[in-house]
Amino acid sequence: MNLLIMGLPGAGKGTQAAKIVEEFGVAHISTGDMFRAAMANKTEMGVLAKSYIDKGELVPDEVTNGIVKERLAESDIAEKGFLLDGYPRTIEQAYALDETLKALGLKLDGVINIEVNPDSLVERLSGRIIHKETGETFHKVFNPPVGDYNEDDYYQREDDKPETVKRRLDVNIAQGAPIIEHYRKAGIVSDIQGNQEIDAVFADIEKAIAAMK
Ligand code: ADP
Ligand code: AMP
Repeated sequence: MNLLIMGLPGAGKGTQAAKIVEEFGVAHISTGDMFRAAMANKTEMGVLAKSYIDKGELVPDEVTNGIVKERLAESDIAEKGFLLDGYPRTIEQAYALDETLKALGLKLDGVINIEVNPDSLVERLSGRIIHKETGETFHKVFNPPVGDYNEDDYYQREDDKPETVKRRLDVNIAQGAPIIEHYRKAGIVSDIQGNQEIDAVFADIEKAIAAMK
């Protein structure tokens, strides 16, 4: 099964992606995670990506298309399927993905579109905490870690600062609409109400996936 998960920053893509991967065994391909790993390793691509990410801007298409293409060509993908998270983020990336999938003989089965009220997103992003060891995402209030909470075991993303969040939301709102339209034309979009409890969102995603098969 080959899926995309879409939604504004903070919509809950990463949170739901972890659940989808656990249940369906697909490969999770998050361009944001790939850039953060490259930034942590200070690779040439990581240094370049950081100059955009720190400002809340998108990394240029040719860089992003390249890393996705390379990942999709790896041998586990045809076997397990994939869940793309945070890509495509421009219509040009959507066209590039169409080409890449065609060249690899793969096709998309569905697009999970998490719809949220943008007013709730600043609160979600400013409370987001990530476990250093596992990379698991939590929220200080909405999804706190169970058991003893030691602040030192978690970090907050640099780009979750309020000034960067605003720019990220503006950029993603402007770029997102044509992408969804592109997939609506193909009749493969499932709209999911994202302003519900995490488990209720996942239950709706499970139903949508069941209807795709
Ligand atoms: P994205 O990957 O779309 O940017 P995340 O999955 O990282 O979003 O979620 C952003 C923040 O919101 C995290 O702190 C997460 O724990 C929290 N969150 C995710 N889903 C929900 C939800 N349904 N209700 C409340 N908070 C949520
Ligand atoms: P995310 O983890 O998906 O919120 O992404 C974090 C940041 O990485 C974004 O704000 C962008 O700067 C960059 N990024 C992630 N995915 C893409 C993409 N598909 N195209 C361009 N930039 C991206």
